[in-house]
Amino acid sequence: MADTRRCKKCILPENYPDIQFDKDGICNYCSAASEEQEQPKKKSKSELDKIIEKHKGKSNKYDVIVGLSGGKDSTFVAYYLRKEYDLKILGVNYDIGYRSAYAIQNLETLVDRLNIDLLTIRPNRGFLTKLFTHFLRKRGEFCSVCSNLVYLSMASLSWNQKLSIGFSPFMVGGWSKEYEFQQNVSVMSMQYFFGNLTKELLNELMVQSFIEEKVVLSCMQLKDARQAQMGTDAHRELGDYAMNFIMLPDYIEWNIRKIPYTLSAELGWKHPPDVHESHFDCSLFPLKEYLKFKKYGLTQETIKNSVLIRQGLMTREEALERMSLEQRTEPEILEIFFNELGITRNDVNWQAEWSRYI
Ligand SMILES: [Zn+2]
Repeated sequence: MADTRRCKKCILPENYPDIQFDKDGICNYCSAASEEQEQPKKKSKSELDKIIEKHKGKSNKYDVIVGLSGGKDSTFVAYYLRKEYDLKILGVNYDIGYRSAYAIQNLETLVDRLNIDLLTIRPNRGFLTKLFTHFLRKRGEFCSVCSNLVYLSMASLSWNQKLSIGFSPFMVGGWSKEYEFQQNVSVMSMQYFFGNLTKELLNELMVQSFIEEKVVLSCMQLKDARQAQMGTDAHRELGDYAMNFIMLPDYIEWNIRKIPYTLSAELGWKHPPDVHESHFDCSLFPLKEYLKFKKYGLTQETIKNSVLIRQGLMTREEALERMSLEQRTEPEILEIFFNELGITRNDVNWQAEWSRYI
């Protein structure tokens, strides 16, 4: 990879989808980002204050529902909402059997220290196996499965809570578009997920215990229901089936280099000493990175660090050094996971394009 041409500002390589370099060797993603920075941030802390004020104390059971993985982003959401607003939190954990030991330990420490009630959703194993196998065979990836099942489970929970407590509960997530969304390399889109499902799998999805058919049908109508945060047109379109959710990184400073230290100091939060600071909550993450590397010649490590360079939070030299952390060789978990699914390396469609929907 030493002779790969890279952007002179970030480290995105020439094989990144739709990349173009200007005469100074700067990529179009960097140019677009510097134009955006000249505009003020969309949402503010005072807007968040108002939203919280509206929802706090509305239910005598809890003020807010937060999806918790034991990773840094969701942990920080819970920590922040408790510290800043003293909210009563209902935590929801999604467990497909591949939570890392770190994630479990962090999750238990968090809920005990902050006195959070925790609900764990463990989807049906047989159905998950079918979905993972289908997506690996068809698209050479499997992460779109959880990404969408988590959303549909949370939306279904919200709808059921609405039926039992009379209003859609307030939900806060820690997904940062800035760091997590990877233009042209993302497998997050709901349209992509439904577009690739077979009729049989869709029918089976509708009858899953944690998922409501009406919620699925209503989410399918939208381009991407995950964009349907409070205050958007998509949120209004979802009507009764809308989740009242926001993403905390849209409202406050979200420095992913600082957050792990804050959590370690305040909550005794732990992360692996060696590799990824992010996404070690799922032990399948190295496989996701490997599939991405095989397909695009780069991983999220490089894409995320390129964002950090643009924000002045990482030097280009450090990002180049951190490229050694990329998952370029087959991770051990591949063999374990494929054996469980009953597939081989030959069954994977390594060449399929991922998503260009959003
Ligand atoms: Zn660049």
